[in-house]
Amino acid sequence: MQQAFADLEAEAACFEKHRTQLTPEMAATDFLDIVHELEMLNRLAMRIFDFATLSFAADTQDQGAQTFLAQVRQTMAGFENRTLFFSLWWKALDDEPARRLLASSGDYRYWLEQMRNFKPHTLLETEEKIVNIKNTTGASALNTLYAAITNRYVFRLEIAGEVKELTRGEVMVYVREADPEIRKTAYQEMYRVYGQDAPVLGQIYQTLVQDWRNEQVDLRHYSDPIAARNLANDIPDPVVDTLLDVCQRNTAIYQRYFRLKSRMLGMPRLRRYDIYAPVAKADKTFSFERAIEMVLDSFDRFDPRMAKLALRVFEDKHLDSEVRKGKRSGAFCDTVGPDLTPWVLLNYQGRADDARTMAHELGHAIHSMLSEGHSAFTQQPSLPLAETASTFGEMLLIDHLLGQEEDPAVRRDLLFHQVDDSYSTIMRQAFFALFERKAHAMIQQGASVDELSEAYLENLKGQFGEAVEVGDEFRWEWVSIPHIYHTPFYVYAYTFGQLLVLSLYQQYQAEGTAFKPRYLELLATGGSEAPAKILATAGIDIYSAQFWQGGFDVIQRLVDQLEHVAAA
Ligand SMILES: [Zn+2]
Repeated sequence: MQQAFADLEAEAACFEKHRTQLTPEMAATDFLDIVHELEMLNRLAMRIFDFATLSFAADTQDQGAQTFLAQVRQTMAGFENRTLFFSLWWKALDDEPARRLLASSGDYRYWLEQMRNFKPHTLLETEEKIVNIKNTTGASALNTLYAAITNRYVFRLEIAGEVKELTRGEVMVYVREADPEIRKTAYQEMYRVYGQDAPVLGQIYQTLVQDWRNEQVDLRHYSDPIAARNLANDIPDPVVDTLLDVCQRNTAIYQRYFRLKSRMLGMPRLRRYDIYAPVAKADKTFSFERAIEMVLDSFDRFDPRMAKLALRVFEDKHLDSEVRKGKRSGAFCDTVGPDLTPWVLLNYQGRADDARTMAHELGHAIHSMLSEGHSAFTQQPSLPLAETASTFGEMLLIDHLLGQEEDPAVRRDLLFHQVDDSYSTIMRQAFFALFERKAHAMIQQGASVDELSEAYLENLKGQFGEAVEVGDEFRWEWVSIPHIYHTPFYVYAYTFGQLLVLSLYQQYQAEGTAFKPRYLELLATGGSEAPAKILATAGIDIYSAQFWQGGFDVIQRLVDQLEHVAAA
């Protein structure tokens, strides 16, 4: 790492010399050379930074990893500040010379265009530097603190007379248990622990939201807090409004589904604890090796290239599946750059759901590897497209399993599970985004943590109507959602991605083999084009409410199918 730091220092010093060469009259080839140099510099910076974040994820309680991450953040802020002059110059450049330089910018074109979209929201260089420096001890530090506080939580559950000490990932396993009492106890324990710290966690949230507003709205003049995320995603504001509106108009579909589920479970009314309850007894578990086999098989059936790429992650030993205390909960895929196989973190516990998560994260990895022909600046798609390959990968696995499984109980369980899952990625996330929109407005008006919790309960009521009974402890659910802390308004990307994939999957089922090249092409484009344009090429109009409704129609049909199965 010392060598890497030294290299970074030397290359940054070299890059700084280009400052005086940047002029409106400069030759296009010189401009391209400078951009290329900046890309190489960024690749090195990403290597260092991701080494630090991955080490921290592997053990969030390791003090060495914590200190190293803080040190790297500091170094990165300094590095960003030293290279900042390039983007500031580029954004400030007049349209005409910018057009000339763009014309021969090759793969960098979209990245350069998108940068100029931020022109109206960019501060002076000195101001940008201050924002960067203050962030390392401000918002970033608060997020590290939030992760450090919440990742050390221990949840105590009494299972068969024995009190177990569990991590969040482990306790969440019990909300999918057949025993309704265990599900209830698991949720209550979860929010007992979060609820105890709610005044502190809520305060961290209020501060982060205020910081977001101060920077994005007051300093950078975005029209409202969500607009800053929308521009970063390069998704026009009206598209996001339409998406969230269509979700609100479709709450009845899931309410109908929850009523069906309560009938299947023999309950008069579903409780919030029962949302993910299994309807059929299918406690089937899968060994890690078996899960790998199933996932690779289902990818291979779609296209052998997909399986081969997924296999590369295992061959390079870039997948951490073990459950350990202090390890980051959940799962993610981390792409460092075009020249490195992505890293995947799982907490594999043998449920069908864990196999699905494996398919999901490997889907991300495949997406990155298919687009590794692009530069470090154009490899990764913007957030709303980032979930395309992952959710598509999950659906391939489900279909494959449905095709193989003969036991009707297991099949029914898979179908129910699929709707459960679509609920948690589509509707649940959309309502998180709606809550964020509300919370950002309320905090601006000086709302207290308790008032935010009341608003959260209201939000749940809007989502579940009379179909689901919500326990009072769910008022603390929002303080347990890391996304709304570290990446405000990230969550609608899941909604966007899942509805999009349902529609793509429909196309695949209708067209078969003819669909495949178009889909792989979409993935291979990576982040080298605007999302609206990438999707238009695939025949999709994201401005149209009808397109989003199409995704819900797929779910409606699934629920119809399930009602049919249930009646039989
Ligand atoms: Zn994902």
